[in-house]
Amino acid sequence: MSERSAWLEELSQEGYVGDAATIVAKAAQYFPGQLALANSFGLEDLVLQHLALPYREQIKSFVLDTGRLPPETYDVIERWRIRYDLSFHILSPDATALESFVAAEGPNAFYQSIALRKRCCEIRKLEPLERALSDQKAWLTGLRREQSATRSHVRVAERDTAGRWKISPLAHWSLEEIKAYVDVHKLPYNPLHDKGYPSIGCAPCTRAISPGEDVRAGRWWWETDQQRECGLHARQSKETPYAAQSAR
Ligand code: SF4
Repeated sequence: MSERSAWLEELSQEGYVGDAATIVAKAAQYFPGQLALANSFGLEDLVLQHLALPYREQIKSFVLDTGRLPPETYDVIERWRIRYDLSFHILSPDATALESFVAAEGPNAFYQSIALRKRCCEIRKLEPLERALSDQKAWLTGLRREQSATRSHVRVAERDTAGRWKISPLAHWSLEEIKAYVDVHKLPYNPLHDKGYPSIGCAPCTRAISPGEDVRAGRWWWETDQQRECGLHARQSKETPYAAQSAR
């Protein structure tokens, strides 16, 4: 087994806890030029992006511009671009698919049904994500186990549905730890976080939460918790044995 495979096997153990900066550094070392960072500019992704700054040549940072992000998110993208001299790959939805969808279903189709909401996420997020990852072998995400019931079993390294390695160095971090890192390093962040938005996605699909509510409760708030994911973080079948997987 190669050094990289042994490292990935260690990270893929249930409940693995490791130093996030070391994990980012090793990921950059093991996947040079084949590692992406999907930055939504949520607090977790700010931490990840900051940890990835020394490896900007090895890590491709990209942003999914759905066209429906709140203005505050565009502002924070711009602040990061300027402060850290970063050039993000900013991906837009396929224009033909989006125009057909909006013509057929209207601009706010996501409120009509779960199926239409998922279709909107497919066009605005999933297809651009696949484009961004098509030439990558691994990607970094800011997933944390305490974010929601659907994320409680996140592993630090696991396969996505396409078989790429999805590495989540902050899986065991608490929200307090994330906020403390952002404070200590004075990272530019979305001001909506100070207005009751712990998790920020597209403007029409995100609302502020009340004290005590689940941190993901403001995302697609009209749906139940089991439905409230956009598919970006679908997992490969748990039945896939590690031994049958080789590091890509
Ligand atoms: S979050 Fe809402 S607006 Fe954004 S892609 Fe999904 S359904 Fe569409």
